[in-house]
Amino acid sequence: TSPATVQRSDAHATFVASDELPPLTHFIDGAFVPGTGDATTTLVDPSTETPIADVPRGSSDDVDRAVAAANAALAGWRRTTPKHRAELLLRIADRIDEAHDRLERLESLNAGKPHEVAVDDVASASDVFRFSAGAARSFAEVGSSQYVEGHTSIILREPVGVVGAIVSWNYPLLMAAWKIAPILAAGNTLVIKPSEQTPLSLLALCELVADILPAGVANLVLGLGREVGARLSSHPDIALVALTGSVGSGRTVAAAASETVKRVHLELGGKAPLVILADADLELAAQTIRTAGFWNSGQECGSGTRVLVHESVADRFTDLLVEQVGALAIGEPWAGDGIEIGPLFSKAHYERVLAFIERATSDGAVAAVGGGALEGPGYFVAPTVLTNVAPGSYASQEEAFGPIVTVETFATLDEAVTRANEVEYGLAASVWTSDASAALELPHLLDFGTVWVNTHLVIANEVPWGGFKGSGYGRDLSSYALDDYSRTKHVQFNHSSVAGLGGGN
Ligand code: NAD
Repeated sequence: TSPATVQRSDAHATFVASDELPPLTHFIDGAFVPGTGDATTTLVDPSTETPIADVPRGSSDDVDRAVAAANAALAGWRRTTPKHRAELLLRIADRIDEAHDRLERLESLNAGKPHEVAVDDVASASDVFRFSAGAARSFAEVGSSQYVEGHTSIILREPVGVVGAIVSWNYPLLMAAWKIAPILAAGNTLVIKPSEQTPLSLLALCELVADILPAGVANLVLGLGREVGARLSSHPDIALVALTGSVGSGRTVAAAASETVKRVHLELGGKAPLVILADADLELAAQTIRTAGFWNSGQECGSGTRVLVHESVADRFTDLLVEQVGALAIGEPWAGDGIEIGPLFSKAHYERVLAFIERATSDGAVAAVGGGALEGPGYFVAPTVLTNVAPGSYASQEEAFGPIVTVETFATLDEAVTRANEVEYGLAASVWTSDASAALELPHLLDFGTVWVNTHLVIANEVPWGGFKGSGYGRDLSSYALDDYSRTKHVQFNHSSVAGLGGGN
């Protein structure tokens, strides 16, 4: 394959007009409002390294204001009917679809997303609002019965209260939608914090929903994790804090939440193995990894990044994989629809990913394709396949969160299962085989919240998403998310206290 190059285009100059930027400030109690402090964060276009805008860095006081607004709105919102909430969520979905072009461009500008990824993100975001609208209406009391003679029990599902949501930069709009839609559907109000570097699409969403939702139901505070995120995690009036982020942030949030005995919902990192047996369709596996290992430039928690392939087919599979990865189209998001790989979202992350490759190669791994930075400007890293990765090594265990797939080999199925499970993470995995017994058996043995068979990274809003072990707990998407954002109450009636029954009236 020829050396990878970055496709560029003059279209950048007109890609996002300045009047398409949303208001760049907090959204509290139904309005865009200035913050209490002067500190700001500069947003940078990762494809060109040029500044986009400065946005305020919120403070604890800003969080307190937003939580007070969410608390005040809770009494009314939690008593709305599921039908009413569903109607509003459907209107939000329609607004997202109507504004899809603008949202896609903001997402590409701010996070460096290839157009194809941005299109998928925005369409999935509106669909999760539609799913949650339907789920709101089929989700109510669990049941009622006479469990004790002369008494009737009903079991209610209630909203938990005000929810704090903290989200990551890799899917700025989509990860927010995964939180906001079920939180509101279940009757909660919320305060959300986007990543400090990628708030544009979520600010645009606030603008779009401002006349749909009652004031205070959904609030947004801009700022840093250690300031705004920390206050959301410890605030006494927040009943549950939900985070999409790294394992380290998950630990910090859970520890802070323990002070007020808050519920915690954590969607953390991943290091998904692909266990490829000797009888697998190797071409299909290699083609799938071209997408599933490199979608969103590898900045994806379920990304298929860690190949464990049977030693008898390892060479043939690696050749097929290298051919696919070497053909990936790299470029600025506005350089055309065929772009598959964009820049990494920030300079610091770009440096982290390059350091990952350096450490892996100094441990003995070999870059069969890629292996370093591409010519700037922009934080572009060549799509990389690392072979000769030793079991237990840094490259085999740590999340790279960039366009890197590692290849290890195994000799027996037992070894494959043990090695697949021996990472800190437990988010997702896949099994590749044409043997029906292996296809049925292996998913039971793999310690991951999602296990695909003969595919990878196929996600639907109807099915739960979430991890085991270091990848966290709680589920996004599906009706399980509504379960997570609700609480259970038992109400019991004593029949004998009802006057007149059996009394011949
Ligand atoms: P991060 O943990 O650095 O940041 C995530 C969010 O947490 C940001 O909004 C950040 O400001 C905030 N935060 C950071 N420190 C905090 C603190 N002390 N208290 C409260 N909030 C804090 O993660 P990231 O780098 O933005 O995202 C990448 C990580 O997210 C990866 O590990 C990835 O695997 C994971 N991720 C997981 C899923 C999933 O569904 N499991 C989805 C996307 C990303």
